[in-house]
Amino acid sequence: MADNRYDIVIAGAGPAGLSAAIYALRAGKSVMLLEAAQFGGQIVNTPEVENYPGIKHISGFDFAYGLYEQAMALGAQIAFERAESVEDLGDRKIVHGVKNDYEAGAVILATGAKNRPLGLEAEQRFIGHGISYCATCDGAFFRGRVVAVNGGGNTAIEDAAYLAGICEKVYLIHRREQFRGEERAVEALRGRGNVEFVLNATVTDLFPDEAGERLGAVEVTDKNSGETRRLDVACLFVAIGQIPENSGFADVARLDEKGYIAAGEDCLTGTPGVYTAGDCRTKTVRQLVTAASDGAVAALAAASMLDAK
Ligand code: NAP
Repeated sequence: MADNRYDIVIAGAGPAGLSAAIYALRAGKSVMLLEAAQFGGQIVNTPEVENYPGIKHISGFDFAYGLYEQAMALGAQIAFERAESVEDLGDRKIVHGVKNDYEAGAVILATGAKNRPLGLEAEQRFIGHGISYCATCDGAFFRGRVVAVNGGGNTAIEDAAYLAGICEKVYLIHRREQFRGEERAVEALRGRGNVEFVLNATVTDLFPDEAGERLGAVEVTDKNSGETRRLDVACLFVAIGQIPENSGFADVARLDEKGYIAAGEDCLTGTPGVYTAGDCRTKTVRQLVTAASDGAVAALAAASMLDAK
């Protein structure tokens, strides 16, 4: 434990966690980031970022890499293990990772959220065999093929636009008439000749291909008429939002009914010394810019709390 003491331990190295690290380090604090998967969070799977103020156009990966490099250059440390829980010892907190324990004066929970599954029985069987949650990662495997994207948020819209550039045809399946994502991007998609909108429809079944090993088709059911339609596709890209994974932190942070950490724009959790930032907290706008903003707010609050001790 002696070597594992930091001013601030940050759970999650996505845009919120990395932004928090940058602000904390610039405030003179030592920082350990704990990351369960890869740095950058979900934005690494986004092909194009065009709405971050000051940057006209950048890939999600390049954006994340820039943040990571900036934090590392300032002296951040990172351990690739999941932060499972936080023990509150008053002035000190123990963050229990999967492998190690870390002691800190303050903790920032910036764990983001994971992809929401469809919840269909056959889903697990086809993951990696025609079901994907990441168009940027897996889209190239389906070059020239017919694919489908499910969802109506910015992720689904961007995925469909990316796939339309490399696939023969893209079905965009959404459960409503209106999209949740940016209207401008939806309009651009409508202009693509190889994108078919399948609206007011949900994916209700998954069928194997002739060999029985990979996904061959999906069944969609029209919400209004109840009619079903079979779409032959080589892959279904699922982009129906995220769910948070905060249950391990329930002792130090109140969670709302959906599992998000209940916190306002001040990023305070209610436990002194424990802060939260980014998509894992209750908020109405989950964007890169709000994640970065949370990171700054949480880090500066943590730093001034430590300075006041
Ligand atoms: P999202 O905005 O939460 O959208 C999820 C979509 O999936 C919604 O259209 C929702 O339908 C649909 N959905 C949810 N559960 C479903 C279910 N069980 N079955 C069928 N459809 C379901 O998620 P997201 O698109 O992943 O985006 C997450 C956040 O990241 C958003 O704030 C988004 O703006 C942001 N983002 C930003 C960028 C960017 O700035 N470049 C890129 C990607 C994402 P309803 O609309 O009917 O609820």
